[in-house]
Amino acid sequence: MAIKITQAGQPCKHCLTPVVRKSHAKPPAKKTGAYYFEYWFQCPKCRALYMVDDAKRSYPNVVQTSLFGEAEKPPIESTESTEPDAGDDGLPPWD
Ligand SMILES: [Zn+2]
Repeated sequence: MAIKITQAGQPCKHCLTPVVRKSHAKPPAKKTGAYYFEYWFQCPKCRALYMVDDAKRSYPNVVQTSLFGEAEKPPIESTESTEPDAGDDGLPPWD
């Protein structure tokens, strides 16, 4: 009979170490139609992961508005070479 891990402190199924609750440091990138886990449990000893259906979140359908065109793009940096001339020895080249 499988015991579901649904809260922190429950014993790991592998090594019986109390599991800890984990969550995203940052909200995950949005993907329409995808889903993610708001939190999960991990065994600090053997690193086993336990996902919980209650923590499963689906992304709302994001409607892309293109009324204002594309988002601003960062300016393209100049790739002009600034390396010194290797033949420059400080003397006029005609001497
Ligand atoms: Zn474990």
